Formats: sequence, C-alpha cells, structure tokens
Amino acid sequence: MQPAASVRAISGRSDAGEDARRELARRAAQRRPAYVAQAASYGLDAALLLLYHFAGVVSATASGLYLAAGLIVTGIALYASELHLNDRFRDHYLTVPLCVSSITIQLFAIYLAPQVGIYFILLIFVVLGFGALRMSARQTALVWTFATLGLAALFLMTDRTITLPVGSTTERLLAVAVFVTALGRCASTGLYGSSMREMLYRRSNDLREANARIEELAQLDELTGAFNRRYIMKCLNDEIAKVQQQGTICSVAIIDLDHFKRINDRYGHPVGDEVLRSFAISIFANIRMVDKLGRYGGEEFLLVLPDNTVEQSLQIVERLRGIIADLDWASVAPDLSLTMSAGISGIAPNDTAEDVLARADRALYSAKDAGRNRVLAVPQRRRFI
Ligand code: GH3
Ligand code: MG
Ligand code: MG
Repeated sequence: MQPAASVRAISGRSDAGEDARRELARRAAQRRPAYVAQAASYGLDAALLLLYHFAGVVSATASGLYLAAGLIVTGIALYASELHLNDRFRDHYLTVPLCVSSITIQLFAIYLAPQVGIYFILLIFVVLGFGALRMSARQTALVWTFATLGLAALFLMTDRTITLPVGSTTERLLAVAVFVTALGRCASTGLYGSSMREMLYRRSNDLREANARIEELAQLDELTGAFNRRYIMKCLNDEIAKVQQQGTICSVAIIDLDHFKRINDRYGHPVGDEVLRSFAISIFANIRMVDKLGRYGGEEFLLVLPDNTVEQSLQIVERLRGIIADLDWASVAPDLSLTMSAGISGIAPNDTAEDVLARADRALYSAKDAGRNRVLAVPQRRRFI
C-alpha cells in the first residue's frame, strides 16, 4: 500500500471513531435531562405523599419507600446511560423497562397507600400516555397489558379500598394538588408529543430537500453542469411522446466541438476540460429555459429545442455557432480558438429516439465533411403507417 493511501485510511478510520464517540456523547446528553425530569417527578410525588402523611392519611414509610424506589430506578437508568449501555438498544431511552418499573412502583404505592390510590392510578395513565409516544404498538400493548393485570390484581385480589380522601379541607386541598400535578404532566406529555411531531416535520422537510438535491445531481454531468446522457435521453423521449400524443413540434441538435483532440494535445487535458465547461456555460446563457442541453458523449452535446421547427432550430443553432466562434477563447489558453459543428433533426410522428439521433448525426457528419464550423439539417422524411 502506498504511504499516502495508508495515512488516509488510518485518518479515515479515526475520523469515523471520533464521529461515533461524538454521536454517543450527544445521545447521552439528550437522555440526561429526561432522567433528571423523571427523578424530579418521583420527588414531587413523594413530597405530596409526605404532605398526606402530615395530614394523617398515610405513613411516612410510604413516602420514603416511594422516593427510594423512584430514585433507584432512575439512578440505574442514568448510570447505564452514562456508561453508554443504553446505546446497545434500538430505543436508547429504554422506554419499555422504565415504563414497566414506574408502573410497578405505582402499583406498589397503591398497595401500600390505598387511601390515596387514585393518585397513583392517575400516574399510571400519565406513564402509559408518555411512554406510548416512544414505544411501538406492540410495546405499548405489552405495557398496557402489564398495567391492566397489575390493577386487576389489586382490585380483584385484595380487599383494599382504593380512594382519594376529601373529608377535611387539607385533604381537599391535597386532592386539588394531586389533580393539578397529574393534569400538568398530561399537558406536558401533549407538548412533548407536538414537539416530536414538529421535529419530524422539520426532518422530513430536510430529507425532501436533500432528496431533491440528490435527484438533481443524478441528472447532471459533473464536468460541464449540463444534463448527463441518461437524463437528456429521457428529455428526448418525453418530447417524442409529446409530439406523438399532443401533436407538438420539437427539434434536436447534436453539437460536436471541432478538432477538440488538437486542443487536448496542444494545451493538455485540464484546459480541454475548461473549454468543455466554458462551452456549456456559453450555450446555457443563450438558450431558453425550456431548451435542454445534455452531454451526449466526450465533446458531443445534445440540444433539445421544444416548439421549434427544423428551420427555426437552424437559425437558433447557427446563432450559437457564431457566439462560440466569436468568444475570446484566448482567455482560457493563449491562441486558443474553438468552433462547433451541429446536425439538426426534427421529430416526426412515429419517430423513435434512434431515428431522430441518426438523422441529426448524419447532418453533423455532413457538416464536418463540409469543412466544420457549420450547422446543417437533413430534410426529414415523414413515415406513414
Ligand atoms: P472532430 O472535429 O472531427 O470532431 O475532431 P475531434 O478531435 O473533436 O474528435 P475526436 O473524436 O477525434 O476527439 C474527441 C476528443 O475529445 C478525444 C478525447 O480525448 C476528447 N475528450 C473526450 N472527453 C473529454 C473530456 O471529458 N475532457 C477532455 N479534456 N477531453 C475529452
Ligand atoms: Mg469533435
Ligand atoms: Mg465527437
């Protein structure tokens, strides 16, 4: 392997490694606030439970256990996230295990503190609603089944009265706080969903633009910016179809640069390339938007001229020939001059692309034979079925 190639290969590998590391760090940074918010959410619920304890409704243990369980689950998730263990999974937020853990905590809380069980049932709604935004239909069904079975077990297999007390003013105030915090989380779930929708919309727009650009690039010849052979042939076939189906008229010209090999031989290939580019730019600057120029071969171009008869196209291409011949090519290379020859053909009904191109090619051959730097057309023979 050549030294330059091996250096490139190694630096390419290390660039890819650096990119991967940066991507992992970006994902971990994305997860961090989500886990912190989850821990804060457990903290808020534990605080409300503590207030219920001060109101004499539940034991202090319920609040402590709830907070400990919540923080342990979130802490494990955060620790795994920082070690990038999450990145082994398709859903790197680990939505399913976190939803299942959270629902398990709520179910235990209902069991331990059924006096405020309605609160935890509301939280199961919030967890399932939020998780469904990130989960597949199958995962959502799985988590829903788990929550349903858990609630069914609590309601059917225990005799606990699951409720929310509203006997005293304090209890009523706490009940309001319960609904306010639960509703707040529902609202933020909705907002999160709409921000995801907005992000998807923006991404799909970016993707559409990138696809349009890729499509555009796939139609162009890299060197000259003219259409490539495949696309100009498509344009020609489209025009043939229009002539046949809608009775429109259209002509094509095959343009070939004269003695181009001599330019390459005298000035070198890069100058030859520059001449091809400048030629294409000069033609672009002097044709209509509806006319299409494509690179048909090395120094051969195909010009499709919709709505033009052969006579009109003769005039148009003759004008282009004059422009190319009169251009100051010496600015590209000393003493450089350039001329072009062209053969023109109209499109007759029942013509195939081969028929049209063969006629234009014959005309081009005649133009070359007649001394170059000229535009000719072969009279077109109409074919009848
Ligand atoms: P004629 O007037 O009969 O058309 O003569 P010519 O020299 O133009 O034609 P010929 O077919 O003998 O040579 C065409 C030359 O075009 C040969 C080839 O090296 C050159 N060529 C083809 N593609 C490219 C290209 O992309 N860049 C450059 N610089 N030269 C090219
Ligand atoms: Mg040539
Ligand atoms: Mg040629």
